[in-house]
Amino acid sequence: MILGGICTRHCGFCAVPTGQGEALRHDEPERVAFAAKELGLRYVVVTSVTRDDLADEGAEHYARTIQAVKREIPGSHVEVLTPDFHSREELVRRVVEAEPEVFDHNLETVERLQPTVRPQADYHRSLRTLEIAKRLAPRRVTKSGLMLGLGETVPEILDAGRHLLSVGASILTLGQYLQPNMQSLEVQEYVTPEKFEDLSRKLRAMGFEKVVAGAYVRSSYHARETFSDLGDAQTCGNSETSTSI
Ligand code: SF4
Repeated sequence: MILGGICTRHCGFCAVPTGQGEALRHDEPERVAFAAKELGLRYVVVTSVTRDDLADEGAEHYARTIQAVKREIPGSHVEVLTPDFHSREELVRRVVEAEPEVFDHNLETVERLQPTVRPQADYHRSLRTLEIAKRLAPRRVTKSGLMLGLGETVPEILDAGRHLLSVGASILTLGQYLQPNMQSLEVQEYVTPEKFEDLSRKLRAMGFEKVVAGAYVRSSYHARETFSDLGDAQTCGNSETSTSI
């Protein structure tokens, strides 16, 4: 996770400390790349806090981190899970032009629940961010994710899936929301494995190339395998649904 440990937003589900953004460490991209190399990683998922306080919202830092990892580990793949960048095309462009293999931005929840779950975000703005990333690099994989168990209904989940497909997302993760502390939103439902499987099947039938669904699934869950499977699926003209429990 780059761009510091303090987020300038406060989402109802998230335990990351919120407040004034920290000073950027300008050598962070190189340090991340060095750490990834030391760990022997070949697939690196980079995410961050949201930095609404920075003029470029951290886009340049993302780009430099992607480039540093690729320089340090030739042949590596980088997936970024980014903030919405307020759908500013020049910022999304800066990240996309650094050539991450996967551009991920999470809707997190269905449209109705956005104001309580992500009060400083916006459902349609997030969709626009994904749309821009896909339009700027049509061959790039875009991905999103939803937490379940916050009170959403099945039709609302399927609507979110439809909206994500309309902006070109091809991978969707669905995981169980778990309350990280007493101040965060309460869990409304523990989703059964059968429901994850059923949703996964329906969303795949709607057009997602990969749906990774299960209680423990998070954005980076088996990210490398999901990306590789996607490549295999595209090669053989087939794709599949994964349910991870
Ligand atoms: S924007 Fe991201 S890091 Fe910040 S509070 Fe929301 S979920 Fe947490």
